[in-house]
Amino acid sequence: MTLDKILEEIKDAEKIIILAHETPDGDAVGSCLAMKLALEQLGKNPDVVMDKVSRNFNYLPGFDEIKVKPEIENYDLAISLDCADFKRIYGSEYFDNAKNTIVIDHHGTNNMYGDFNFVNPASPACCQILVGIFQYFKIEIDKEIGTCLLTGIITDTGGFKYSGVTAETFEFTEEIMQKGVKVYEVYKKALDTKTKANFELMKKVVDRMEFLEDGKVTFTYITNADLLDVNAEPGDHEGLVNIGRDIEGVEVSVFIRQIEDDDKTYKISMRSNNYVNVSDVCFVFGGGGHEKAAGASITATGNTEQEDIEQVKNKVLKEIRKVIK
Ligand code: 5GP
Ligand code: MN
Repeated sequence: MTLDKILEEIKDAEKIIILAHETPDGDAVGSCLAMKLALEQLGKNPDVVMDKVSRNFNYLPGFDEIKVKPEIENYDLAISLDCADFKRIYGSEYFDNAKNTIVIDHHGTNNMYGDFNFVNPASPACCQILVGIFQYFKIEIDKEIGTCLLTGIITDTGGFKYSGVTAETFEFTEEIMQKGVKVYEVYKKALDTKTKANFELMKKVVDRMEFLEDGKVTFTYITNADLLDVNAEPGDHEGLVNIGRDIEGVEVSVFIRQIEDDDKTYKISMRSNNYVNVSDVCFVFGGGGHEKAAGASITATGNTEQEDIEQVKNKVLKEIRKVIK
């Protein structure tokens, strides 16, 4: 089966690189660092390559060893974690150049771009898939690996509260509590601690929030000027899209932000509550994700920033109108 093949590939490889999606969240960072520790147990010394990792995750073992650009160009094996498609990988050139490739992910829109793909959309976090994989590989899930995995599980489930949470989520959490991992500590660090800049961005996002479609849709945004204004660091936009979703009567929350280095392109983040599949909506724009949390990018062609924002908003709204009741 696939997992036996994956283990074989790992055992046969000398130079291994571990990659994830761009602007990595807690699940991406937790998955990569957990995989690094697991491979070390198998006698390997892999590189973890990620860019713009939020300093919120600096408590994770191996955080300081994350590389932005590795020295090696051609790896024997590249492992992509928590990333639905090739073009979203940070460091996709290393994936491309590697002799063999493995993809482990939990996105329903994953298009199986590896030589070996282990994808389970029923799992609420890539980190939760890794629990089962590590057990199968007979890797000891110790306190350090447990901390990494719990970080991904807590961040991708919004603190055990999203619909994707399964009984295994709690069974695993119990197991690693036995190893000495303190859930409240990981929870506090990974989810509940906001940077000052994140708080300042929250004020802007709340102030600008529009209620559309009879209050069933919220829309808000931040620009690169806002990020400069609050001295934002990587990851400081995390969580802003959830504000709209938590308001009574809202089905879809839309949050857009200009991407760094390109003021004309906007990263769309969407969340839904009950029946709208935002992954389908984002797919229309070349993106994807999960039923209730998804994203995409749209490049605008307006004459001013405000025109661009209106244009992106209207494009997204047009698609949402087709599915909102
Ligand atoms: P977020 O809104 O937190 O950036 O992303 C929500 C979910 O959608 C995450 O699981 C993320 O991986 C996925 N996602 C975000 N942007 C994209 C995108 O451009 N393409 C794809 N395929 N998935 C995305
Ligand atoms: Mn994830």
